[in-house]
Amino acid sequence: MLSQILFSAALLLTLGIFGYTTSRYVKLFRMTKPDFPVRDIGKRILLTLRVALGQSKMFRKPFTGFMHALVFWGFLVILVGSIEMVIDGLSGTERSLKVLGVLYDVIIASGDVFALVVAIAILVFMGRRLFLHVKRFEGIEMKHISHMDAKVALTIILLLMLTLLGMNASYVTLKLAANEPVHGVYPISQYLAGLLQGISSSQLHLHHEIHWWAHILLIFFFANLLPYSKHFHVFMSVPNVFLSRLDPLGKLPNMDSITREVKLMMNPETAFAPVEGETAPERFGVKDAEDVTWKNYLDSLACTECGRCTSVCPAAITGKMLSPRKIVMDLRSRMREKGKGLISQGRAFSDNKSLLRDYISEEELWACTTCNACAMECPININHPTLIVDLRRYLVMEEGSAPGELKSVFNNIENNGAPWQYSPEDRLLWAKDLEIKKS
Ligand code: SF4
Ligand code: SF4
Repeated sequence: MLSQILFSAALLLTLGIFGYTTSRYVKLFRMTKPDFPVRDIGKRILLTLRVALGQSKMFRKPFTGFMHALVFWGFLVILVGSIEMVIDGLSGTERSLKVLGVLYDVIIASGDVFALVVAIAILVFMGRRLFLHVKRFEGIEMKHISHMDAKVALTIILLLMLTLLGMNASYVTLKLAANEPVHGVYPISQYLAGLLQGISSSQLHLHHEIHWWAHILLIFFFANLLPYSKHFHVFMSVPNVFLSRLDPLGKLPNMDSITREVKLMMNPETAFAPVEGETAPERFGVKDAEDVTWKNYLDSLACTECGRCTSVCPAAITGKMLSPRKIVMDLRSRMREKGKGLISQGRAFSDNKSLLRDYISEEELWACTTCNACAMECPININHPTLIVDLRRYLVMEEGSAPGELKSVFNNIENNGAPWQYSPEDRLLWAKDLEIKKS
């Protein structure tokens, strides 16, 4: 009974902190702007199965992709065992899901094998980070805290797997020693159980209790650490893939207010007629955290900081001052910095800083070729160019600021209706000696 009370208290505390964190994120999402409507649910489910659950984009780097996929799939299987631990902890039962029969055996056996596989994969990932100095993990945006964050998360996952194996091994040994039935199948732990032979029943019991509690408390701690870590992608990447932009990558979203203005220019008779439901746009493009859409913000929370986007970015590769990963991470940092004020004082809150310039420079923005290689490569379908273009839109439309070459293009469009320096009347001069019949 005492352990049930302690477990319930730990669970309540975990849910309380998690609920508080979630409510803050919900409030921040409420500060963001609308984006595309979420339709085509069938298409989205298929996309999620392929990209998120199937990890299809991860396999572009076969070895690390395969290792990551094993960790991801292992987490899914082990999750069932964690749910069982919560039921057991609350009700004081033992192995409560054994009623599932053969299915239970399959789940427990898979979880037992995956615990070892994930532990090995984590050791490989740690080794890469500690000894191989992979270029993809470096960059000006990758501060000391980012590297520490990754190492802490990897350590916790490793401990989770070791405590799971320790718990299973002591359970098997306890049951065999007491001549009681072992529920579930343990392909790995049955061998580890051999290491515990000869230990007294009370010590075995203590061994089991220590691993059981360490495992579940680590899960509770990790669940509350994730929202403040790059490993928040554990929660956010699947929803982010489900909520991907379904438009072709090269298609940039139009700004509704500008589209309307252009249409009015094409039809001047309606230019001064009031449009029902029209409100004046607050700001053209993105200058700061409150200007981004919910999708931009979701992208930033889901980013794993893997650096695949930057590793294929032609601007970054040729030494320009641009890293698409930095753009996404900057938005997340800025929202974290300004979010408290936005929640308490509303969208008008200012701390005399902004995402543009205090985090992302004009030089970075104009270095982007909008080639979409970053979005194509991102394993969780983050779309960087839409945010970059919206930041540029603010520069051009609100400040009239653009590189010199672009300014002359803009002037030509304004004066000549085309990007070239020629008057519209001269456009067909090139064809005057060609005997082309006018229709
Ligand atoms: S779209 Fe821009 S940021 Fe993305 S890869 Fe191309 S140049 Fe780099
Ligand atoms: S944006 Fe995508 S590819 Fe780039 S670091 Fe984040 S998760 Fe990786």
